[in-house]
Amino acid sequence: MNINLFLREKVVETAKRILDFGLVTGTWGNISIKDDKLLHVTPSGVLYPQMRTSDVVTVDMNGNVVYGNLIPTSELPMHLAIYKNRSDVGAIIHFHGLYSSIISIIADEIPPLLEDIAMALGYPLKVSKYAFPGTTELSENVLEALGDNNAVYMRNHGATAVGEDIEDAFLNAILAEKAAQIYYFSSIATQEHKNLEVHYVPEKHARELRKKYLEKYKLLKKTTK
Ligand code: 13P
Ligand code: ZN
Repeated sequence: MNINLFLREKVVETAKRILDFGLVTGTWGNISIKDDKLLHVTPSGVLYPQMRTSDVVTVDMNGNVVYGNLIPTSELPMHLAIYKNRSDVGAIIHFHGLYSSIISIIADEIPPLLEDIAMALGYPLKVSKYAFPGTTELSENVLEALGDNNAVYMRNHGATAVGEDIEDAFLNAILAEKAAQIYYFSSIATQEHKNLEVHYVPEKHARELRKKYLEKYKLLKKTTK
């Protein structure tokens, strides 16, 4: 079988990047990249600094291991469920960022905050209902809360970002963590300083921004790659 080494390397490269950006610690969090009818995924329970390309597990769309010696991520059911329901998704990053985790505990959703977040991620960004990690229930709750957006927070757990490719998913993970941080601090600021007030992007403009991003703005990135 011809296994795409470039995409397997990308999984590990991205794993180190999310570690560097503080989106994960220890062994928690996971990554997958779609490769036609296969997925290249991070192994379960391997420390990020030690992760090597040979540790990446390649599975088919039923979750059967077709290449690799380690156990695929325990969140594989969630990754598979997202790919089955979202044909536009080519890569997924599940992470446990600090601010995304705070939002997963205290909020139900994040309204449209800023131009970049509304454009790339959609709105409102929802927190999925609680479920035990790695279960079908968790996959269903995540799918429901994700909808057509590119990020979702997961109750008492963390967050998941999706993208058309791994670069896009990485950008969306960074933006989801940024949205959580901004929402958290702006909420505190308005409670502590009574002269401050939170303003959201008007819903009509949020819709327009998202449309513009999907139909036009996002495509500009391709021409500058
Ligand atoms: P894995 O190490 O199995 O990928 O699990 C980490 C995690 O974040 C579970 O939700
Ligand atoms: Zn997790």
